[in-house]
Amino acid sequence: MDVEKQYDLFVIGGGSGGLACAKQAAKLGAKVALADFVKPSPLGTKWGLGGTCVNVGCIPKKLMHFAATLGELRHDQVEAGWVDTQVDSKHNWEKMVENVNNHIRKLNFGYKNQLMRGDVKYYNKLAELIDANTIKLTDNKGQIETVTAKNILIAVGGRPSYPDNIPNIQKLVITSDDLFWLQENPGKTLVVGASYVALECGGFLHGIGNEVAIMVRSILLRGFDQEIAEKIGLYMEEKGIRFIRGCVPDMIEATEDNKRKVTWIINGQKYEEIFDTVLVATGRVSDTQKLNLEKVGVNMNKNGKILCSADDKTSVPNIFAIGDCVEGRPELTPTAIKCGQLLANRLFNKATELMSYEFVATTVFTPLEYGCIGYSEEDAIKKFGEDKITVYHSIFKPLEWNYFEMHSGESCFAKLIVLNDNRRVIGFHYLGPHAGEVTQGYAVAMKMGVTKEQFDSTVGIHPTCSEELVQVTAVKGIDEAQKEGC
Ligand code: FAD
Ligand code: NDP
Repeated sequence: MDVEKQYDLFVIGGGSGGLACAKQAAKLGAKVALADFVKPSPLGTKWGLGGTCVNVGCIPKKLMHFAATLGELRHDQVEAGWVDTQVDSKHNWEKMVENVNNHIRKLNFGYKNQLMRGDVKYYNKLAELIDANTIKLTDNKGQIETVTAKNILIAVGGRPSYPDNIPNIQKLVITSDDLFWLQENPGKTLVVGASYVALECGGFLHGIGNEVAIMVRSILLRGFDQEIAEKIGLYMEEKGIRFIRGCVPDMIEATEDNKRKVTWIINGQKYEEIFDTVLVATGRVSDTQKLNLEKVGVNMNKNGKILCSADDKTSVPNIFAIGDCVEGRPELTPTAIKCGQLLANRLFNKATELMSYEFVATTVFTPLEYGCIGYSEEDAIKKFGEDKITVYHSIFKPLEWNYFEMHSGESCFAKLIVLNDNRRVIGFHYLGPHAGEVTQGYAVAMKMGVTKEQFDSTVGIHPTCSEELVQVTAVKGIDEAQKEGC
C-alpha cells in the first residue's frame, strides 16, 4: 500500500533553477519543500541560500566588473570636464568586497523570506536520495532526518573543477568559489583557463589595478565566434593583460612568503614566475557525486551530468533534473529559472510547454563586453555550408569614446549571420559597451524569426551602439567592415 508522501515536490538545491521551480510549484498549490546546503570550498569559503549565481557567480561578478569599468572611465571623466577626478587613484578591494558581500547577504535573506511567504518548507541540510521517493537530510551538526515526496527535482548545479596534474592544487589556488569573498586583494594574479569565468575575472581584476596574466591552453572562449573571441583577447592585451598561450601549469608551489611559484613549459622551454594568487577557472563539474543517484537508477554521463529528456525527466519517472547539473543544457541562470518554472507548470498546472534553448541570448562581461544570440560563424558554416550563409560585419566606435582619444577605435564590432534562402538572421554578435542591454531585445526578434530585411527596415536610435546592428551592410569577404555615416 502506498503510504501518503509528505510532499508533492521535494527540490534538492536552492539555486537559480531549484528556487524558481519550488516557488512556482507552491504558487500552484503543491506541497513543496527545498533543501539547500553549501559545502565549503577546499579553502573554507561558504555562503548562503541562492546558489552559484547569487553568491559566487553572476551577481558578485557583475558588480566587480562594474567597479572595474568605473575605473576605466576616470580618463573619460577628466576629458569630459570633471575637475577633481584623479586618473591614478587606487582601488580599495576591502570596500568593494564589503559592499558586494552585504548585497549578497540581503539577497540570501530575501530568498529565505520568499520561501517562507510562498509556503515552501526550507531545509538548510545536505540531501541524498535513499530511494525514488525518500530523501535523507543531514544538517551541519550531523543530525539526520528523512522525508518523502511524490516528485523529486535535482537542481544541484556545479562546482569548479581543478587540473589533476598538480599535487595539492586545491590548497594552493583559489577558484571563483573563493574570489568574491576574499577579504584581501588577490594582488598579482595568474588566471588559468580561457573561457567565460577566466576572461571575466581576469578582466575585472586587471581593471581594478592588479597585474594579471591569463594562461590559455588552446583557444579563447571555446564555442563562441572565434573572430570575436580573438578581438576580445586583443582588446584585453592592449589594456595590459598578459596572455600566456599554448600551455598549462606544470607545477604550482607555495614560497616561504606564501606566494605561488608557477612553472610552465612552452615548446620544450621551461618558464617560472611568482604570483600572489593563482585563480583556476578550468571549468565546472556537476555536483552529483554524493546524491546516491546510481543506486536509485538515475542515469548520468561519465562526467556526472544527469541525462534528461526534453521534459526534464531522468531515467526514474518521478525524478526530474534541471540547470547546470544536466547534460547538454546551457550553464546560465535565466535558462535554469525558466526551465524550473515551466517544469512546475507541467507538474502542477497541466501545462505542456517545454523549455526552448533556441536563440538564448548571452553576454560575456569581459572589459569590452560581448553579447551574442544563435550561431557563431564557425557553427553556421558547419551546419549550413559556407555558400548558404552571408555574414555582415561592421567596426564601430561609440560616440562617447571621442572624449578620450586613447580609446582604441578599432575595437567594437557587430556581426550578423544570415541564411541565404530565407534571409533569416541566425547569428547575432555585438562587441561593445553595455552588451547585455543591447543584446536582450534583439533576442525577441530572433525568436520570432526576424530576417535581415526586417533588420534593415528598422530605424535605429541615434546616436547609440545598438543602431549599428540595424545599419550593418558590409558583406564579409567583399566589403571592409567599416562604418559609414556620422
Ligand atoms: P546552482 O545555482 O549552482 O544551485 C545549486 C545549489 O544546490 C547550490 O546552492 C548548492 O549548494 C546546492 N546543493 C548542491 N548539492 C546539494 C545537496 N546534496 N543538498 C542540498 N543542496 C545542495 N550565468 C548567467 O546567466 N550570467 C552570468 O553572468 C553568469 N556568471 C557566472 C559567473 C561565474 C563565476 C559562474 C561560476 C557562473 C556564472 N553563471 C552565469 C552561471 C550561473 O551561475 C549558473 O548557470 C546557475 O547558477 C545554475 O543554476 P542551478 O540552479 O543549476 O545551480
Ligand atoms: P568552461 O568549461 O566554459 O571553460 C573551461 C576553460 O578552462 C577552457 O578555456 C578550457 O580550455 C580551460 N581548461 C580546462 N581544463 C584545463 C586545464 N587542465 N588546464 C588549463 N586550462 C584548462 O568553464 P567556465 O568555468 O569558464 O564556465 C562554466 C560555465 O559557466 C560556462 O559554460 C557558462 O555557461 C557559465 N558562465 C556564464 C557566464 C555568463 O553568462 N556571463 C559567466 C561565467 C560562467 P580548452 O578550451 O582548451 O578546453
